[in-house]
Amino acid sequence: MIRRTKIVATLGPASSDASVIDRLIEAGVDVVRLNFSHGSAENHVRVADLVRERARAHGRAIGILADLQGPKIRIGRFAGGKIHLNEGDSFILDIHCREGDQTRVGVTYPELVNDVERGATLLLNDGMIVLWVEKVEGQEIHTRVVQGGELSNSKGINRAGGGLTAPALTDKDRADIVTAASLEADYLAVSFPRCAADMEEARRLFREAGGHGALVAKIERAEAVEAIEDILAVSEAVMVARGDLGVEIGDAAVPPVQKRIIAMAHRYNRLTITATQMMESMIHQPIPTRAEVSDVANAVLDGTDAVMLSAETASGHYPVEAVAAMARTCLEVEREMPCSPGVTLPARSLDRVDETIAAAAILATQRAPIAAIAAFTESGSTALWLSRAHSQVPIYALTPQVHTRRRVTLFRGVYPVNFPQSRHDDPTQVMRAAEDELRRRGVVRDGDLILITIGEPIGAPGGTNTLKLVRVGEATTRG
Ligand code: PEP
Repeated sequence: MIRRTKIVATLGPASSDASVIDRLIEAGVDVVRLNFSHGSAENHVRVADLVRERARAHGRAIGILADLQGPKIRIGRFAGGKIHLNEGDSFILDIHCREGDQTRVGVTYPELVNDVERGATLLLNDGMIVLWVEKVEGQEIHTRVVQGGELSNSKGINRAGGGLTAPALTDKDRADIVTAASLEADYLAVSFPRCAADMEEARRLFREAGGHGALVAKIERAEAVEAIEDILAVSEAVMVARGDLGVEIGDAAVPPVQKRIIAMAHRYNRLTITATQMMESMIHQPIPTRAEVSDVANAVLDGTDAVMLSAETASGHYPVEAVAAMARTCLEVEREMPCSPGVTLPARSLDRVDETIAAAAILATQRAPIAAIAAFTESGSTALWLSRAHSQVPIYALTPQVHTRRRVTLFRGVYPVNFPQSRHDDPTQVMRAAEDELRRRGVVRDGDLILITIGEPIGAPGGTNTLKLVRVGEATTRG
């Protein structure tokens, strides 16, 4: 059995050289994430080149996800690097403060004074420190410490319940979009989008810069949860970014929201990534906690396309072990508790031929003993529809397009295959070659049924119009 849920690993100082990347690939990474919150543009380009080189050496397609920093609001710096706040202390967030002390600190977003009022709750350092706003006076926000602790330079600020107006794309993001396009990112993740317009703006800039990749909306603001349907309509994928989301909507609200977002994305034929703290203890330990294993397992059962590692692989002590632990957890859950197929055929009427073929293929895999699907695809859309079925049948996306091979790395249950073909090829020969390829890979044996979806003539994007069942080893086919 082959793992269906995909693994996204963030690269960083612990994982940016060739030998670690090799071991991450061997352990099962499908997509790497370049986190533009850290590191220079030159370094991201270097790492992307290295990943592609090592992927080629392994004969694998690895997707690259460029993750923009977004308008993360932060406090400024302290003269001594850090302070300790106690419950009941008064503390001022002061737009003009250059060097903080025990009484005040600067803020990177001057508009914050307009976004809060008496009674608002501000959460610093991922919610570790809680401040209650007493009053806003000019460029100063006067607060009372509700929950104290150590506070060091540049920690993030969230407002409980959302309501911060910072636009999703900063000047840095706009420059990073150009870098993401130049390194041919397969996915561009937009941080803190509030609405569909934020995603559309990012897409426009990415396309203008020559970027071809798909757009991922990181759901980490309360407003984005409310606007989820509109955001899904204009994005190829969503990330349940549980870190900031948990701070804004409260940690207990995250699991139901995660389930709702994954289910809704599924209905819209969109991809999902479940992210943050999945194997957090593995930053320091070689094995995960039982709770972390359960968290990954639950995301698999929710139907997520991918599970993501952040600091575990970027800066942790056990990046390869973290990927391996995730991979074995996904595989075990998929083996023991297969998602129930049968609920995924669209109830609406189908107006596209290729989508109709995909729906017919899904029905066939639910009713007939099909061992594998060979989906000839140019853009990857047939493979995407097929993967929404969550059946146990592996889907091989056969394509000559390198960008499509890299994109499908994120699709649950879809495996990219480099398959040169042109519109002059004879479809019967091409299908025979696909059968040979799956047999060579050990996926099917004589007597197995393969379901093939293909467009005739071959090679037109969106042109899938044929479904065939082929019995391996038999020259005859049944259409
Ligand atoms: C998150 O907040 O969960 C997240 C994925 O965002 P980032 O790691 O970019 O802060």
